[in-house]
Amino acid sequence: MYSESHCHFRAAGDEAYEKAVKAGVELVLTAGIDVASTVEAVDVASQYGIVKACVGIHPWYADEYSEENHKKLRVLADNEEVIAVSEIGLDYVGRMTKQWERSSEVIDHDVQRAAFRGQIGLAKELGLPVLVHDRAHGQELLDILEEEDVKGIGAAIHGFTKDADYAKRAVKMGVYISIGRSILREENKDLEEAIAETPLDWILTETDSGDPSGVVLVAEKIAEIKGLTKEEVGLAATRNLKKLLGI
Ligand SMILES: [Zn+2]
Repeated sequence: MYSESHCHFRAAGDEAYEKAVKAGVELVLTAGIDVASTVEAVDVASQYGIVKACVGIHPWYADEYSEENHKKLRVLADNEEVIAVSEIGLDYVGRMTKQWERSSEVIDHDVQRAAFRGQIGLAKELGLPVLVHDRAHGQELLDILEEEDVKGIGAAIHGFTKDADYAKRAVKMGVYISIGRSILREENKDLEEAIAETPLDWILTETDSGDPSGVVLVAEKIAEIKGLTKEEVGLAATRNLKKLLGI
C-alpha cells in the first residue's frame, strides 16, 4: 500500500526490510550518490524483492561526473533492477562529505549544471524517469527540467520543501513532488500549504533514509493536512510512483 520514492537502502538491511514489509510498504526506490554506491544500490535491489535501484551521481559529487562515469552508469542501468535515474540535481546550499560530515562547501554551480543536464541526457538514452535533488536558487531547477523537456521520461522532485506556487508550476509541467520527513521534523507553513493545494495525484512519499517503514508517518502527516486517511494517501502515492516509473 505504501511506497518509498527515495532512500539509501543498505546491504544487510534485513531488519529494516522486514519492518517496511510489515508496515505495508510495497515498493522502495534506493538511489546511488556516486558510481560505487550505485553499484551497491543495484546489488541491494537484487537481494530484496520490493527494492528497486536508481543510478546517478549526486550534485554533492558532481565533479565526479565524466564521460567515463556516464558510460559506467549506463552499463549499470542495463540491470533489470534499475528503474530510474537518481540522485541527480542541484545543491547550492552545502553538502555532506564522503566521510559523512556536513560541509558548507559547494561544487561549482556550472559543474553541477553540466552533471545534471548530462544525467538527464542519460535518463533520456535509457527511457527512464528522473528523481531530482532540488536545493538550487529560485526556480532554476524547474527551468532546467523545462528546457531539457523531461515530459517524455517523467520527473519528480525528491525531498520537496518549497511553497505552493513552486509545486503548482511543477505539477503543470507534469513533475511530481515527493514529500519526506522534513514535514515531520520542523514547522514549514509554506510546505504544508503546498501539500494542501497539490492534487493527491501528484504527491509521492519518501524518507531519504535507510528505514523505508518511515513513509507511513509521512503519509499520515499528509493525510492530516489534506483531511484524508493515511491509507488513502499511501495508495495514491504508490499508484503515482508506479505511473511515473511506468510499471
Ligand atoms: Zn537522498
